[in-house]
Amino acid sequence: MSAVQPANTYQPKGMLIDGKWVGSASGAHFTVENPARRKPIVDVPRAAAADVDAAVDAAERAFASWKKVVPRERGKLLLKIAEAIQARSEELARTIALETGNALRTQARGEANMTADIFRYFGGLASELKGETVPLGEHVLSYTRREPIGVVGAIIPWNAPVMLGALKIAPALCAGNVMVMKTAEDAPMGVLMMADICQEFLPAGVLNVLTGYGPEAGAAIANHPKIRKLSFTGSTEVGKIIMRAAAERIVPVSLELGGKSPSIVYPDADEDWAVDGIINAMRFTRQSQSCTAGSRLFLHEDIFDSFLKKLEKKTTALKIGDPLDEASDIGTIINNKQYTKVCKYVQDGLDRSDAKLVFGGLPPKTGPLSEGYFTIPTVFADRSNDWRLAREEIFGPVLVAIRWSDEAEAIRMANDSHYGLAAYVWTHDIGKGLRAAHAIESGWVQVNQGGGQTPGMSYGGYKQSGLGREFSLEGMLDSFTQRKSVTVNLAV
Ligand code: ADP
Repeated sequence: MSAVQPANTYQPKGMLIDGKWVGSASGAHFTVENPARRKPIVDVPRAAAADVDAAVDAAERAFASWKKVVPRERGKLLLKIAEAIQARSEELARTIALETGNALRTQARGEANMTADIFRYFGGLASELKGETVPLGEHVLSYTRREPIGVVGAIIPWNAPVMLGALKIAPALCAGNVMVMKTAEDAPMGVLMMADICQEFLPAGVLNVLTGYGPEAGAAIANHPKIRKLSFTGSTEVGKIIMRAAAERIVPVSLELGGKSPSIVYPDADEDWAVDGIINAMRFTRQSQSCTAGSRLFLHEDIFDSFLKKLEKKTTALKIGDPLDEASDIGTIINNKQYTKVCKYVQDGLDRSDAKLVFGGLPPKTGPLSEGYFTIPTVFADRSNDWRLAREEIFGPVLVAIRWSDEAEAIRMANDSHYGLAAYVWTHDIGKGLRAAHAIESGWVQVNQGGGQTPGMSYGGYKQSGLGREFSLEGMLDSFTQRKSVTVNLAV
């Protein structure tokens, strides 16, 4: 099935249906490409409706007994999976770096470790699937149960595929559901490896993982009559398709979608720690392919030029190169389509006489970086919040710096977006920082830090950035359980 792969990376065995590694029913497959070389890595099955049917049937059969397993026992299995992932974390990290182009040292290792941590976190929460008693009177016993929903259809993207997959698998299974997951076209290998590890511990059919295209296998999941819950991470555009499909069958849906997150820097934060934080928040070392990327930088006018100078110095010192090379800080964009899209945004910025290129620009056309989808961190300034580069999610390393003088105006601009996923505020004045945090319309605001999510925090979007929360106990309870009230008359 595969070409020569770099050492210590995972070799897919097919897709996982009912505990077995299988090809697609049609025999069709597609090729996964190494974005750093523009060369094929491996072929994986191309699932379609028949494969989704087989996976859903297997999941439904498994549900009958999985839902009856005592939650703490399910939790223990997740804890074993966590340790098994941890034991193979380097192989997982290298696999992620190979297929996504995310640099091993700065990104992929963190993702592999976080994946183990997600299983660990949810494994420990199994006994929190508690109900309540309701005081309806001395002669009535009324209580609630948190019951699983059934077969969950999960569709995930390629940007942090394994972590985002774990965020659905671990809570859904902990709560007693079963799952049919579709990996992203460009990054199925790491998720298949995670499924392979899960499968050592789980009964057949509890977790099924398919590889295939969105409009084909993804649509078959979204529209499947036996799927009782849809959980999607990806673009807002496809999120709307998923939600429409869910509306047809009245199934609950969780959506983690796009963002155009603001960073507001106050004049007292013209310092190195804030510059480091902005680089982190912008996810430059993940080529900014992150829905939480702080891609609109609102700088106070007093520090506008000096802050950008510091930002240029630190950002241009980052090393762009082979994702598997320990020396690389920044890897590649995922595929040609995204690369072309990012380049078009950069070109658009360059073509605007009223926008200033602060640093960066189009990627090199020759030399080692031209062998892959490498882009370079780019910052434009001097335009306001109203142009295309400040409104659309670029999903690439293109940052727009916007000047502000009045705090209310900065917050108004920050909120002037149909997205509301993340936001960042930078100031020593904690009162100001928190006032801004409360005024910003986002599901997640960080003050004086630009890091990623941590298990335990509820993560999700306002406005068109999504519905529902992940990463937390509440997220698990709200997204993957349904409440049943049982009322008993004690008077008879
Ligand atoms: P991104 O390009 O950021 O990954 P997409 O929303 O295009 O975002 O893709 C996210 C996931 O949604 C992928 O697994 C993709 O295959 C899937 N997908 C794309 N189109 C559809 C569709 N029409 N129906 C169901 N899933 C889809």
